[in-house]
Amino acid sequence: MPSLDAYTLAVTSALAALFMAITMGGIFLAGNREHAIADWALAGVLFCLGHMLGNLAMAGTVVIDLRTTIALGNTSIFLAYGLILVGIQEHLGHRRSGAMILAMALAILAAGLFWPGMYANTSSRVGLLATVYMGLAIACTFMLWRAEDRMLAGYRKAVALVILGNAVLLSLRAVYIALGRGESAEPGGVNVMVPAFLSSMVFYMALNVALALLLFRRKEAHLRHMARHDALTGLLNRYSLEEYAAREMARVDRSDHQLSVVLLDLDNFKRINDEHGHAAGDRVLVEAADRVREMIREGDIAFRVGGEEFLVLLPGADGREAARIADRLRRSLADGPFRYRSTEIRVSTSVGVVAYDPVHDNWESLQRRADQALYRAKDGGRNRVELAPDRASSPGAA
Ligand code: GH3
Ligand code: MG
Ligand code: MG
Repeated sequence: MPSLDAYTLAVTSALAALFMAITMGGIFLAGNREHAIADWALAGVLFCLGHMLGNLAMAGTVVIDLRTTIALGNTSIFLAYGLILVGIQEHLGHRRSGAMILAMALAILAAGLFWPGMYANTSSRVGLLATVYMGLAIACTFMLWRAEDRMLAGYRKAVALVILGNAVLLSLRAVYIALGRGESAEPGGVNVMVPAFLSSMVFYMALNVALALLLFRRKEAHLRHMARHDALTGLLNRYSLEEYAAREMARVDRSDHQLSVVLLDLDNFKRINDEHGHAAGDRVLVEAADRVREMIREGDIAFRVGGEEFLVLLPGADGREAARIADRLRRSLADGPFRYRSTEIRVSTSVGVVAYDPVHDNWESLQRRADQALYRAKDGGRNRVELAPDRASSPGAA
């Protein structure tokens, strides 16, 4: 690469790091106020600073003495790598190693200032730092690879590969220098700094892109989750119901499986709000949703479809089996009182049950029949289960 020179590349590396700081800082200021993003923004600043100091040292135009400039530059770069790690720990909800990183940074600074080997011997300095960075990169990769979240896995692995790839290149450079093929700046000599700065520039740009995409993807996953779930109880919401119902009905249409729908409405819920307050009502709804979730089998799907109304899709259950399950749900809600602070609140539930008839039903008629069964349970005195009659035996029911 005859036309590339190390000085220019050091400056462009610093600029690439600065753009990482600007991107992460911008995401933070745009409202994503997470420690992890602030850590990554600061890492960009420190990478930039480290490269500028390195550039000064290389050019011989040092403001302070050369030893201090190199020590500060290396400490700055180390802290930046450390902040990448700490940010990843933050992002994954792990315990942060901030204190350990700070202690190591002080050790690197002290070594740079007071240990002659660190200053005078490029090979040992580069070798030591490359080993430390490889350690940090392996820690980052390990955490990112293990984190379980199908929607984010590929994006986390991309970040891990960028960090690990950079550490591998840094190690190769250290080996190269250790073999005595040093940092010759002579014209025509192999200057290892050119590929080193080139690779660090690519590293900052790739890391910036990988982190930004990971953050974007996580926001996307969060918004998607919010759109499909009810914020109070965490159950799926009415919007998702249509999609799940269509899927389950199509499955029945393709086979001879059964599908039933259970519609639950808490009785006289208005009175609970009036007597105990809206917060108590909310607490009851949250616990009622928990009880429903605990009672149903794997494969059954629960939704909050209205204020105090829940719906459960029971794939594989015929009407009679669904009515049995519905009665178990009714009892689990009625038997144990709900607790809000020191108050015990008792709630009963009326339930309408309907079995899907693939010949006569569509989603509208199925919902209508579930509603009608529920109204009959209310009319019949509440705290009870009503099973909608078969379509075949009462064709005029809808
Ligand atoms: P019924 O036995 O006929 O179902 O009587 P009800 O009082 O339960 O029915 P109604 O439809 O008259 O009232 C439902 C009440 O549910 C009114 C509303 O204030 C309350 N509610 C709806 N959503 C929420 C919520 O998110 N939190 C709380 N605390 N209350 C809610
Ligand atoms: Mg209601
Ligand atoms: Mg009600």
